[in-house]
Amino acid sequence: MSRRRALVIGGSVGGLFAAHLLRSTGWDVSVFERASEDLAGRGAGIGTRPELFAVLRRIGIALDESMGIVRVRSRKYFAPGGDCLQELPLPSINSAWDRIYRPLRDAMPPESLHAGRALVRITRNDTVVEAVFSDDSVEQGDLLIGADGLHSTVRHACLPEAQPVYAGYVAWRGVLDESAMPSYVHADLFEHMSFTVAGHELLLCMPMPGRDDDTRVGRRRFHFIWFRPVAWDTELRDLCTDAHGVCHGVSIPPPLIRAEVIANLRATARTTLPPQMAALVEMAPQPLLQPIYDLVSPRVTIGRVALIGDAAFVARPHVATGITKAALDAQSLVDSLLAADGDLDKGLAAHNQKQQPFGRSLVERAQMLGSYLETSPKSTQAREAADFHRQPKNILREYGAAGSIHDAKPS
Ligand SMILES: Cc1cc2nc3c(=O)[nH]c(=O)nc-3n(C[C@H](O)[C@H](O)[C@H](O)COP(=O)(O)OP(=O)(O)OC[C@H]3O[C@@H](n4cnc5c(N)ncnc54)[C@H](O)[C@@H]3O)c2cc1C
Repeated sequence: MSRRRALVIGGSVGGLFAAHLLRSTGWDVSVFERASEDLAGRGAGIGTRPELFAVLRRIGIALDESMGIVRVRSRKYFAPGGDCLQELPLPSINSAWDRIYRPLRDAMPPESLHAGRALVRITRNDTVVEAVFSDDSVEQGDLLIGADGLHSTVRHACLPEAQPVYAGYVAWRGVLDESAMPSYVHADLFEHMSFTVAGHELLLCMPMPGRDDDTRVGRRRFHFIWFRPVAWDTELRDLCTDAHGVCHGVSIPPPLIRAEVIANLRATARTTLPPQMAALVEMAPQPLLQPIYDLVSPRVTIGRVALIGDAAFVARPHVATGITKAALDAQSLVDSLLAADGDLDKGLAAHNQKQQPFGRSLVERAQMLGSYLETSPKSTQAREAADFHRQPKNILREYGAAGSIHDAKPS
């Protein structure tokens, strides 16, 4: 009997987790990634969780300090004047997005990875899914996995009603070398995850591995994420308009961000942020702009199609679960198929029943954690959540904390 074949759309972390786990259970797997260039330059630092390391170990990838992780000793909350108001001894492990991506990609047989292949549509019946690519090539599989991110073509084809909803704020992100940090900034911030809240804005910052996974003192890097309310129709489009007056929609390649936009960002940092954090914004060579969205899919399986990772759900970054959720989605899918003992439809139904409520509750939890960033909370519950979650002690305890993912599990 020939092996079952899975077509995985999207060769980022979610697609690679699914590909490895399916291959380990005997599937023939092909991964199709739209980008023809290496994805390793994407992303910045990430928080990690034990669940992520467990899935990596199952695939045969072990991470330790020598391989690009950085330990965080505690969490700190800073007042606008620069005083540390609270410190919580909550150690954690930070890594970098490409530190997770690269070993996953390198461990895949090259013949299973097809870069530069963009899915344009799918057709399906009860047993076969057909994928059509932009070069008019066609592939068939018993299962198609949509791991194609927030603006998923697969989700759009199967669940057009599930659309990302703008959260009302953006994240400005920046990375700088440890060696470039002034000593007073380094002493206060490095080895900690630090926060400040100014009005409806939050900045958090933390260490991450250096280039080439270097974790030696002086070779590491540091990054910040600054959440700021931005009106969708007017302000965001202006931020995404380049120096030639070309509007790039609701995102913009970092080098095209206008110099005056960056200058304004830095000027605001100087007047509203603690001086240590303003210095980060001042010194980060190329800040990136990222609109924040919520995405909830009503189902994560549709016939022989499964959605995983950001294609299925996007929770705001406050729960810091994106990569771990992509890994857990892939694991749930493969374990559900295994438990169904060859009955593909039964396995997919079991996966949907388990993982859809999980994704939905993560999104809801992230909305609560970020409610104080919305300038006009939509409900009384959101207003109460905003008051609770903007308290320094609650920010330190709850932000991306281990509880986020466990509390989100359906009862
Ligand atoms: C501000 C911010 C902070 C974050 N912090 C953290 C954190 O601390 N911890 C954490 O775990 N996560 C974090 N994340 C989230 C994390 O980066 C994502 O959740 C994760 O990358 C999702 O992986 P994915 O494979 O599902 O999707 P993606 O990484 O988006 O990959 C989708 C892939 O599909 C490809 N693709 C798209 N369309 C097509 C097509 N038609 N055909 C073929 N290929 C296609 C794309 O090129 C892309 O490579 C953060 C995110 C943000 C915005």
